[in-house]
Amino acid sequence: MKTQTSDHYITEIKRLKAEKNAVILAHFYQTGDIQDIADFVGDSLALSQKAAANSADIILFAGVKFMAETAKILAPEKKVLLPDMNAGCSLADSCKADDFEKFLKANPGRTVVTYVNTSAEIKALSDIICTSSNAVQIVESLPADEKIIFAPDRNLGNYVLNKTGRDIVIWNGTCHVHEEFSLEAILRMKKENPDAKIIVHPECELPVRMVADFIGSTSALLNFTRKDESKTYIVATEAGIIHQMKKENPLKNYLPAPPRDSTCGCSECSFMKLITMEKIYRCLLNEKPEIHLDKEILLKAQKPIRRMMEISEKLGL
Ligand code: SF4
Repeated sequence: MKTQTSDHYITEIKRLKAEKNAVILAHFYQTGDIQDIADFVGDSLALSQKAAANSADIILFAGVKFMAETAKILAPEKKVLLPDMNAGCSLADSCKADDFEKFLKANPGRTVVTYVNTSAEIKALSDIICTSSNAVQIVESLPADEKIIFAPDRNLGNYVLNKTGRDIVIWNGTCHVHEEFSLEAILRMKKENPDAKIIVHPECELPVRMVADFIGSTSALLNFTRKDESKTYIVATEAGIIHQMKKENPLKNYLPAPPRDSTCGCSECSFMKLITMEKIYRCLLNEKPEIHLDKEILLKAQKPIRRMMEISEKLGL
């Protein structure tokens, strides 16, 4: 069978997008070539905002399933496509609806703040959603005496708890990329590059967060490298974000923080990297795989996401 070049797929994707009035939303953790063909590249918060406000008939999500589901929840009238349905998320998978319901019953009377990295079923069980860009502000927007459940990322939950001092019970989930960064290897890298700043995503474990010069969401990290005057950064999040950092500031150096297991590509999300140019082309051509959600779950999940978006808008996030 004849194999097509990447250029061929790019040409065809552009043609199909125009023909079908489709947009491609890509997460910062996609490969650089996919980020470059997207109509919009961003983190989970920005991509949700884009999904809710655009005039396309089709949204193709170059990201993972919970993100495409969030787009469908916010734009149920649109066709939302995900090029590979196996593009899941170890963090979302760590929080199953049955177990979460038991957890809620065991911790009654608490407001349920859930990170966007969850299935539609978990969102439907939540009071308010957050992303790593707004988690601290969302919790701070609640009355000071409100007791809170935070799920599913224990590291982000712990970060929010330390920042806000609120009464928070945290679900014990983690992301397979962010929990893998090695403190020892990061410190070795810093020794070899003493002028480098260590920039860290809040999903990383506490010892890694403790040596950070700056902690923030992917957008916040990108913004930091934009404004900061250092020449070199050790970047402790999924390595895909480095593509945007290099595009914006090509003269700076960005060193991906090393994972514990130096023989694996653990600083890359294996789920995100399931999306390829060929799969995007086939998905747009055939208009499948498509995201379908149970209507009741979709409507229940809409409320906590909209609540987050309203608060984010009010706070200018
Ligand atoms: S990087 Fe982690 S949290 Fe993000 S999609 Fe991959 S597994 Fe999920």
